[in-house]
Amino acid sequence: MQITIALTKGRILQQTLPLLASAGIEPLEDIATSRKLIFPTKRAQVRLLLLRGSDVLTYVQHGVADMGVTGKDALLEHSGSNVYEPLDLKIARCQLATAGLKNRTRPAGRIKVATKFVRSAKRYYSAQGRQADIIHLYGAMELAPLMGLADEIVDIVDTGNTLKANGLEMREVIADISSRLIVNKASMKMKYRSVNALIGQLAAAVGCY
Ligand code: AMP
Repeated sequence: MQITIALTKGRILQQTLPLLASAGIEPLEDIATSRKLIFPTKRAQVRLLLLRGSDVLTYVQHGVADMGVTGKDALLEHSGSNVYEPLDLKIARCQLATAGLKNRTRPAGRIKVATKFVRSAKRYYSAQGRQADIIHLYGAMELAPLMGLADEIVDIVDTGNTLKANGLEMREVIADISSRLIVNKASMKMKYRSVNALIGQLAAAVGCY
């Protein structure tokens, strides 16, 4: 039975490929350099799709891909229905955090927050009982406090180098993030044996790392 696995380009891919390889799933050509978007693998019944960011969740939600690997940040933001999240792959670890200008305390009262993670930010500030006007940006969030667009940002922080390079510092951790294996609910039912075997193989591979 054919299994389609959706992956994202970039840093998650680099760390996912060794896990897939230990389950015998290796693309027949170099996935990192090829311009193709569909890759057959050494396991004839498994193919890989190469997508962008949260499109992985969309493909798995619609059942076009049976499984996928995506960051918890995307799952928190889009809270996929139709999808199981059976395995934490423990890769591409980072944090979703608030940050602001270094040595500057957050103003009292209502603040402006720039972020790509609108839902997660809204949920966080409201759980804290803080009033925040969320400004939706698509990138370069670090610029917002520097230019006075926002008092604070909500962004992914790994080493903290990006914040530091822009005179910002992390304030509070909102969530620990890592990549997750997601599975379409219908695929789990219809292709149970293949999907479940694959989850087991990946779980074993994660345990080894
Ligand atoms: P750093 O400078 O190491 O703190 O990395 C921060 C930037 O890298 C963030 O603005 C993110 O866009 C990106 N980044 C780092 N780690 C990840 C990850 N695991 N998933 C997605 N984006 C990441």
